[in-house]
Amino acid sequence: MSDAALLAHPARLRAANLARTLVCLGLLGVVVALLTLVFGRAGERIAVQMCVNVAAVVALGVFCGNTGTVSFGHGAFMAIGAYLSGILTMPASVQRSALPALPGFLAGHELSLWMALPVVALAGLVFAALSGAAIARLVGASAAIASLGLLIITHGVAVGAREITRGSQTFFGVPRVVDLPLAFGAAVAFIIVARAYRESAMGLFSRAARDDADAAAALGINPRRTRFVGWCLSGALCAVAGALYGHMLGAFSPASFYLSLVFAHIAMMIVGGMASVGGAVAGVIGVTLLQDGVRQFEGGGDLLGFALPAVFGLTTVALGLAILLVIWLRPMGLVGSFELGPGAGARIFDRITARTVPAASPPPVPDAILVAEGLSKSFAGVKAVVDMSFEAPTGRVTGLIGPNGAGKSTLVNLITRQYAADAGRTLLSGRDLGKISREAVARAGISRSFQNLRLFRGLTVYENVLVAALAAGHRGRDAAAVTLRELDAFDLGALAATRAEALPYGARKRLEVARSLVQDPAILLLDEPAAGMNPAETDDLADRLIRIRDTRGIGILLIDHDLRFVNRLSNWTVVMNRGTLIAQGRPEDVRADPAVIEAYIGRGRTAAAVAATEEETTPRQGVRQ
Ligand code: ADP
Ligand code: MG
Repeated sequence: MSDAALLAHPARLRAANLARTLVCLGLLGVVVALLTLVFGRAGERIAVQMCVNVAAVVALGVFCGNTGTVSFGHGAFMAIGAYLSGILTMPASVQRSALPALPGFLAGHELSLWMALPVVALAGLVFAALSGAAIARLVGASAAIASLGLLIITHGVAVGAREITRGSQTFFGVPRVVDLPLAFGAAVAFIIVARAYRESAMGLFSRAARDDADAAAALGINPRRTRFVGWCLSGALCAVAGALYGHMLGAFSPASFYLSLVFAHIAMMIVGGMASVGGAVAGVIGVTLLQDGVRQFEGGGDLLGFALPAVFGLTTVALGLAILLVIWLRPMGLVGSFELGPGAGARIFDRITARTVPAASPPPVPDAILVAEGLSKSFAGVKAVVDMSFEAPTGRVTGLIGPNGAGKSTLVNLITRQYAADAGRTLLSGRDLGKISREAVARAGISRSFQNLRLFRGLTVYENVLVAALAAGHRGRDAAAVTLRELDAFDLGALAATRAEALPYGARKRLEVARSLVQDPAILLLDEPAAGMNPAETDDLADRLIRIRDTRGIGILLIDHDLRFVNRLSNWTVVMNRGTLIAQGRPEDVRADPAVIEAYIGRGRTAAAVAATEEETTPRQGVRQ
């Protein structure tokens, strides 16, 4: 029976998410209030700048935090926002003298900031969609370098387009309308948008793909699409932040949005913690206070009675040291990769009683059959899989056994299209899986687990399963209910709020199976789900899988080393050796097959010897056959 904490978990998660947003807002609010109360006008100026920077860094984090890729390109979006908004809002008289050659369609609009911002956001979005079409295809360092290229190109264009930007000269006449209420309001709005995106289905998909792109794709999530959406939203927000920055300064040049600004923002993001919105906010606050504090002493001064010499570039040195210190002591940033604020397991949510009832066991899946025909795959001369053909229908557990290196995992990777087959094809009820995308294979009804655990480390147990449910098309309460169903079925309810990376090994293995089952697949491919488990855990997993086979009719292709485990579950056994099929049939027949015996223990041994070997390698009592 499920415990109350599990049933209330979806409500607790919602409450935790709201609380985390409020913590971000509260933190900023307190710092802004203190600055203005303690330091008066000077403090207010710092607070305005801090709030605009919060907006910019939070916007940057929408892409970087959720995809795990650092971007230098957001300076380009900020420049576009600042120049466009400046042109649209500038008094016509100033514009005529400052920008005499401005193209007609841009001239003389004299919009208010509120009218200009939607145009700016749209321009940012369009520019993001165009550049994202290329950049979202890249990951890691190549994506970061491409974004740097975007920044350099945009800077070059801004310097060159003199009619519009006055080139490298100062662009002036931009109404300085950003006061503290506006800046703070913008920061609040940006934090809310970024938090909402992070916890939305697309945000979860993005963080899942960030943690493990292959595992995400195996659930039907398109990693490239998550990066594209994040890039577009981040770009539109950065353009708006750039407009606010421009209206704060009143006069700027292309250099204002170039490397020094971009590096400052990235430093803030990394110091605070790139993976969370709270990290962005904390980073901006920390770095701003540090910089403004140190700046007092840049021209020399008096600290506690000591006369300090003037040090040119002291703030930059301090910032560099702060970054080094943080990277050394807290590689994930001040906040770490989890949001500031309470987790969904926190005590303060104990009174939340809203219940989501776990979904009932779904009706048996419709009959389907997975057919592999002549699959082959070589890796630089190593023939991993050679002309493999077999069938795995629903309602049956098909055991796939074979010695280490026989090609079992490669076969699974061919079926799920993680690898492209050199020859052969895979059909699911007649549909050729080679003709659809890797993500579509999951949606067609094939789920898998991985031999080497491939969980989404940064997500909680609950979110690991929830993201798979969302990817399968469940939404809202329904997604929560099916998630609870699988957590319950694999005894993971008490761990719902735990992060996957903190789980004990056995629970991680169960979580992978739960994650693939929540998608309600027709065929489930389990690659050594019991590897590394102790005998009691293995038996427990077998019981749970038998229940699923018998009630839900899912076809399971079960790979494992532990022959007792496989034999206990499977109604049909397929044996591979050196990439080829060497036997298949009912488990008891296969075990007596000389070719199988030879593959496992060498020539000249008997079936009795096989049984004895099994007993030795997996000494367990009371195993049903
Ligand atoms: P099994 O899962 O049965 O233990 P695998 O499918 O992992 O076997 O491996 C079969 C063969 O293919 C092995 O010789 C292995 O070294 C090779 N192989 C598997 N994956 C790769 C890869 N990505 N690159 C190169 N060789 C691989
Ligand atoms: Mg393997």
